Amino acid sequence: MIHAPAPAVEVLSANKTYNNGTQALLPVDLRIEEGEFVTLLGPSGCGKSTLLKMVAGLLEPTDGRLLLWRKPVQQLAESGKKMSFVFQSPTLMPWASVEKNVRLPLELAGVDKVIADEKVKEVLALVGLSKFAKALPRALSGGMQMRVSIARGLVTDPDLLLMDEPFGALDEITRHRLDAELLELWQKKKLTVIFVTHSIHEAVFLSNRVVMMAARPGRIVEEFVIPDAYPRTSDFMVSTAFSQHAKKLQDSLMRASAGQEAHFS
Ligand code: ADP
Ligand code: MG
Repeated sequence: MIHAPAPAVEVLSANKTYNNGTQALLPVDLRIEEGEFVTLLGPSGCGKSTLLKMVAGLLEPTDGRLLLWRKPVQQLAESGKKMSFVFQSPTLMPWASVEKNVRLPLELAGVDKVIADEKVKEVLALVGLSKFAKALPRALSGGMQMRVSIARGLVTDPDLLLMDEPFGALDEITRHRLDAELLELWQKKKLTVIFVTHSIHEAVFLSNRVVMMAARPGRIVEEFVIPDAYPRTSDFMVSTAFSQHAKKLQDSLMRASAGQEAHFS
């Protein structure tokens, strides 16, 4: 029997005008299949964070609907699915150890202590931080802090991972290493990921599909499928296919950003 792919996320004519009148997003339609890695790319202010927060249920659309596994986000638990949000800054509790930071979502969910111990151990190993369980966040590099934040996102075993420019503040090499690790996790855990970045190379390297957005007002303007097989390695990054994808995205981003400079007076 052939199963039609199930949509993990459906954005149905969702738009957002903030209370101060800013039209952050025109009506957006977007369907993301279970297991897909989709990246939102576009100039600053095009509504990437607004869209992601609406998917997360952190922000109500002005009109339209958002469904996760065919249910409104508030009823996600009924479908037995879970979602995590990883922000750009690691937002760790500075006074608490790595282990305690990662454990927080489990404590909030009232998970049994023995099970929580196991789970925390497992995700710390997954992100390569087992040796730093007792360390305080300030003893870690930026890249390691971001790993803690990802471990905290993964500790609840989410089906959907929302990431808003998670590696934007890191140096290029660290970013690339974390990109590669993220892809491994995505494959191993069969996650559905929505990833926000303004790096073209990061978008090409990671994604099944790239959704290009433009600003003033925010909207989706184009979509690109990146059909290349996974696992993707650094060989992919120096391939002709990679440059061709990057060139297409670059041209699209230029079009999406055209005329914007005039607004920055
Ligand atoms: P991006 O993440 O692509 O940079 P955002 O979603 O943060 O874009 O913002 C989209 C637009 O909405 C921008 O013009 C921004 O200034 C505006 N905006 C974002 N948050 C708010 C808010 N809380 N109140 C009013 N305007 C906002
Ligand atoms: Mg943003």
